[in-house]
Amino acid sequence: MYNPKSSKAEEFINHEEVLATLEYAEKNKNDIGLVNDILEKAKLRKGLNHREASVLLACEDPEKTEEIFHLAEQIKKDFYGNRIVLFAPLYLSNYCVNGCVYCPYHLKNKHIARKKLSQEDIAREVTALQDMGHKRLAIEAGEDPVMNPIEYILESINTIYSIKHKNGSIRRVNVNIAATTVENYRKLKEAGIGTYVLFQETYHKESYEKLHPTGPKHNYAYHTEAMDRAMEGGIDDVGLGVLFGLELYKYEFAALLMHAEHLEAVFGVGPHTISVPRVKPADDIDPNVFDNGISDDIFAKICACTRIAVPYTGIIISTRESKALRERVLPLGVSQISGASKTSVGGYCTPEPEDEKSEQFDVSDRRTLDEVVKWLMEIGYIPSFCTACYREGRTGDRFMSLCKSKQIQNCCHPNALMTLKEYLADYASPETKAVGDALIEKEINNIPNTKVRQLVRENLIKIQNGQRDFRI
Ligand code: SF4
Ligand code: SF4
Repeated sequence: MYNPKSSKAEEFINHEEVLATLEYAEKNKNDIGLVNDILEKAKLRKGLNHREASVLLACEDPEKTEEIFHLAEQIKKDFYGNRIVLFAPLYLSNYCVNGCVYCPYHLKNKHIARKKLSQEDIAREVTALQDMGHKRLAIEAGEDPVMNPIEYILESINTIYSIKHKNGSIRRVNVNIAATTVENYRKLKEAGIGTYVLFQETYHKESYEKLHPTGPKHNYAYHTEAMDRAMEGGIDDVGLGVLFGLELYKYEFAALLMHAEHLEAVFGVGPHTISVPRVKPADDIDPNVFDNGISDDIFAKICACTRIAVPYTGIIISTRESKALRERVLPLGVSQISGASKTSVGGYCTPEPEDEKSEQFDVSDRRTLDEVVKWLMEIGYIPSFCTACYREGRTGDRFMSLCKSKQIQNCCHPNALMTLKEYLADYASPETKAVGDALIEKEINNIPNTKVRQLVRENLIKIQNGQRDFRI
């Protein structure tokens, strides 16, 4: 029985409800009157439920599809302006006891190099990331209670926050590790993590069990209920995601929104972010083996419909996607992207020899952070290295209520400009610096509040003179 408030995975992601949603969407996809009503509701910027959003995703009418894309762009502008927050993944260890058939780190893969960073290695990686200009990391580790116990993760987080190299510092560490206990989530919270991210991979239970044939991850309920335990452990910013390509995208989309509705219903806070990765080639992995790959057009529509359905949730696109594809979906609602990512263990410091590869997947966008920053500015965005909310305690429902009332923009825009200025002063090439300084000069006039504008002007001068870490 479907019950968004239930604590049981099979009730809040209820298979029959997903199927009924898909049937409803299929039946009504070209009912222009209904599509119009849903679009009118979406224009209120308060989101849509999974059934309504599924109708939009299924709608095939070209004119209405254009409207969907247009509305997504408008909502993105309203909630996020033209800012894009940057981050990088940091792979700590690729030891893993699970058998996920789409990931090269699965236990039976004997030819991939297995690596685990020591605390000294982490210090070197973090220094390299700081030297690029990164302030926000997402740490990744396989599930292995012996090689990667929670103590190792906690010690690593501590090391990352402790490294201060030149003007660099990592100000927010998001964590992407396997589903764990309430007690461990509490420890992560105490270690000062930002968002806890866990991809569902697929919400379809039968497929999930086939795709995760062995290891603790095989347990669908334990994995799907992880965010509830994280919230119980005090982590109020959680990041959802599915791996598109494993199952039918319409199923995943409806279920993903049901998961968001469940968190909202039970904890009063929806997901902080949603990631939309697609299966990519990797050592031992051929994406063509999976039947449900999605085209770029469908991918763009998923981004747009997600933006409309959950306007206050950040959407993340990684370097799995190419420059061209990222450029296409940025206006549709994406708010965070990774830049200059290495998906290998230890890859930021030392390039890996051909016979010692430890990458999780092939990166499509291989540009440097400087190139990504310059590109963003040239296509009309403000690259932001902001981490202010979490450091000011604006997490969970405090963050959501600010975001829903659009007040967040009074913080985001000034913070984006100040953190960009830091980046330009410390890490940018002369060409990027020239483009960035001109952009800041122009964008500063878009701060509506005179006092805030004045404060930002003063802080920009202080940054120029060597002071760091201003935030609103
Ligand atoms: S997806 Fe995660 S849990 Fe599965 S094999 Fe890869 S690293 Fe391990
Ligand atoms: S002010 Fe908060 S919401 Fe805005 S970019 Fe910074 S951390 Fe994100």
